[in-house]
Amino acid sequence: MAKHAVPKKKTSKARTKRRYGSFKTKTLTKLTNAIHLVTCPQCGAKALNHTVCKQCGKYRGRQVLNMNKKVSKITKIKA
Ligand SMILES: [Zn+2]
Repeated sequence: MAKHAVPKKKTSKARTKRRYGSFKTKTLTKLTNAIHLVTCPQCGAKALNHTVCKQCGKYRGRQVLNMNKKVSKITKIKA
């Protein structure tokens, strides 16, 4: 005898798709409700709550990121 649960019938394509469709909509609504965007008081751009603003680099009025420093794109990798 099998110790694990054994399905009696094959799950149809429609049933599988229906299950994953409902899972998808459920998780998407959960994710959209979880993301809280706030407007930055310094620059007014939309930023995630409790994170550094990527436009001005400030968090709670304090400069956290150095925005003058330019990060050049890595085009060549030296071997
Ligand atoms: Zn900002």
